[in-house]
Amino acid sequence: MADRAQALVQRLPELEADAIVVTSLVNVRYLTGFTGSSGLVVIGPQTRVFATDFRYREQSAAEVDSGFDRRIVTTDLLDEVGDALPAGPLTIAFEDGTMTVRDHARLAETLGDRVSLVPAGSPVQELRAVKAPDEVRRIAAAAELADAALRDIMAQGLVGRTELEVAQTLERAMLDRGAQAASFQSIVAAGPHGALPHAQPRDAAIDAGELVVVDWGARLDGYCSDCTRTLATGDLTDEAHAGYELVREAQLAGLAAIRPRAGGRDVDAAAREVIEKAGHGEHFGHGLGHGVGLEVHEAPRLSWRSDSVLADGNIVTVEPGVYLPGRFGVRIEDLVHVTDAGAEILTGVPKELITVG
Ligand code: ZN
Ligand code: ZN
Repeated sequence: MADRAQALVQRLPELEADAIVVTSLVNVRYLTGFTGSSGLVVIGPQTRVFATDFRYREQSAAEVDSGFDRRIVTTDLLDEVGDALPAGPLTIAFEDGTMTVRDHARLAETLGDRVSLVPAGSPVQELRAVKAPDEVRRIAAAAELADAALRDIMAQGLVGRTELEVAQTLERAMLDRGAQAASFQSIVAAGPHGALPHAQPRDAAIDAGELVVVDWGARLDGYCSDCTRTLATGDLTDEAHAGYELVREAQLAGLAAIRPRAGGRDVDAAAREVIEKAGHGEHFGHGLGHGVGLEVHEAPRLSWRSDSVLADGNIVTVEPGVYLPGRFGVRIEDLVHVTDAGAEILTGVPKELITVG
């Protein structure tokens, strides 16, 4: 963890800052190990200060990396920033993507004229995008657990059960297998409902002969997984069958484009081109994928709007879809580790069309 703070210090010159105050809790966790709901850190070349409130005295003692000077604060945490900083006029970077306007005003007021605040962008998110081997292992373990939970659900059958019941059973299966939580609200969407990419599970029975989109993930040891499979509940129409095979082909094209230094935009284009050539470009309205780690959506992004460039150690999803309003939807999503050898797939459920009665 000490090297994470050091990596952040190395970003300070380009931010033209003497130190950075990190207030986003997920970033505080990444830098210190602290999992509570109140904390901030101040990091500079000679500064490693972690502040929390009295409720977390013991938890922070157990969790926070020993390289930090740990302070228990009885007032607003932001009031501690000034005390944590060295003397003299200073420029301090803050996380402008997550700090509230109110907190920024409070920080400026408490620091006064000797400190000027500069926006940092999201340097910790950029560090988080490249996973250390132990993080890869944790994400792989979350993915494996989620795979096993889906197999539990498939063994129970789908036809006649409601989307909501299947989603709840899937989430319970993840908890039973040791997950801390689902990493997001599971999607189970059958037939025409599957044409909504972010469908909420309904209290409506799943019929035979439909496609069912299942998008789910587990949180384990703080790290998320994310996966989608589209299952069949019996014989499909030719159109639905062709839709499935098209998405599968696009997904494989996306995977094949994954490598360090590939642009997020180019990987997206590799999969999108397959769908566009089949005349379904307008039915694939979302980006191809996103990073996954402590958060289920994080850097880098794979989309036509992305400026991301992939690096060895990224973990991203590859999840093209085709959504035909009023008819059906298909999405296939794998979680992959970007390595010099290409995409290492962390999802274990097969992608050939699986029929579950
Ligand atoms: Zn997903
Ligand atoms: Zn996803």
